[in-house]
Parts: sequence; structure tokens; C-alpha cells
Amino acid sequence: MAASIKPVVISGPSGGGKSTLLARLFKEFEDCFAFSVSHTTRQPRKGEENGKAYHFVTKEEFKEIIKKNDFLEHAEFSGNMYGTSKQSVKDIQQTGRICILDVEINGVKSIKKTDLNARYIFVKPPNMETLAQRLEGRGTETEDSLKKRLASAQEALDFAEQPGSYDHIIVNDDLESAYKQLKDILAEDIETLRKTRSK
Ligand code: ADP
Ligand code: 5GP
Repeated sequence: MAASIKPVVISGPSGGGKSTLLARLFKEFEDCFAFSVSHTTRQPRKGEENGKAYHFVTKEEFKEIIKKNDFLEHAEFSGNMYGTSKQSVKDIQQTGRICILDVEINGVKSIKKTDLNARYIFVKPPNMETLAQRLEGRGTETEDSLKKRLASAQEALDFAEQPGSYDHIIVNDDLESAYKQLKDILAEDIETLRKTRSK
């Protein structure tokens, strides 16, 4: 059963390319992976669908979920709240697909304390200058949020340097090469899942 395949936690500085890599993965292996849709209090970006990119909620709604103890983990990032509901992970596990979570470093630290038993992948930008250019080029940030996101990037990079923080580090310089690294990391899981299904 897919239950023996570990969920995958992806983390890395904002603008490092996590969503870009995951979008390709979901397109190519639609039958194998599913994204754990988090809750957030940030405003939706252009094109982000409620329930698909995130469950967009108010601060009050978010607090209510915390109170009910329905989050597996939650954290504040760049002035907004983000959280993984226990239900979102459970729902995916029931579909038999491999659950993928995209969380910042406090999420990684919290998930490590749960019984999720995940694999951890860090997506690293080639350098800070490129990261800043990509984040700005994405056109989603204000001057203030850009500053906040870049300020937290160094902390994420320092954490990734500590032995044992991540199982794999992907340097996202050339996109094709980064995507190949991601596929290589997940190849065994994909094979196991498909073999199990064909039995
Ligand atoms: P994250 O999800 O980690 O915040 P994104 O996937 O949104 O990052 O990527 C940030 C921006 O950088 C996007 O505009 C994306 O198209 C671009 N980008 C991602 N990877 C690369 C790459 N290897 N080379 C050039 N641009 C990239
Ligand atoms: P963005 O606003 O760019 O979509 O996401 C900002 C940051 O929040 C990213 O680093 C992303 O990994 C993180 N994030 C998204 N969902 C969650 C979540 O449920 N929990 C935590 N801890 N971080 C999240």
C-alpha cells in the first residue's frame, strides 16, 4: 500500500522555485502525487484558486482551527499565518497518492516532532542575488513583503546547512536539472507505488 511510502515535505526560501518544480511534478505524475492544501491568512494572488493553492481564511477562522487542535502544524511567515490541517494530509493518504507538503522552516521543525515520518527536501536558490531577482520577477510581492521574505531566506539557508535538517538538497539553478534531481529523488517511490497498483 502507498501507506508505506513516506510523505514528502518540500521547503526552501520563498522564490526558490518550489511551486514551479511541484507544478511540473504534479503534471507529469498526476496519478502518483497530491498536494496538501494548506490554510493561510494571506491574500490570494492572481490565478490562485481557493481550495487548490490554499484554503484562504480570515485570521479569526485560522485561530478557530488552532483552538480546535485541527492543525498538524502552523506558523507565521512574512506577516501571515500558514497551517497544514490534519485532515488535508489524511484525505490524501486515503487516496493512495504520495502526499506532498510545501512548508517553511518552522513547519519542517514542527512536522519532525509529529508521527508523520516524512522525507525532507530543500530547494536552494543558486545565490541570494538570483533569489531576489526571481522573487521580484514573480511580481507577487510588495516592497515590504519582498524584504521580509528575503530576510527569512538566510535563516532557511542556515538551517539547511545543519546536518540532518534535510534528506536532500536540490540546487535550483537550471530548472531542467533541478527538476531531474527532484524526479531522481522520487523515482523509487513512483516505481513502488505503480508496482503496488498493478498487483
Ligand atoms: P517558491 O514556490 O519557492 O516561492 P516559485 O516556484 O514561485 O518559488 O519561483 C519563483 C520565481 O522564479 C517564479 O517566477 C518562477 O517562474 C521562477 N523560477 C523558478 N525556478 C527557476 C529557474 N530555475 N530559473 C529561472 N527562474 C525560475
Ligand atoms: P507563499 O505565501 O509564497 O505561498 O508561501 C510562503 C511560505 O509559506 C513558503 O515558504 C511556504 O513553504 C510556506 N507555507 C505554505 N503553506 C504552509 C503551511 O501549511 N505551513 C507552514 N509552516 N508553512 C507553509
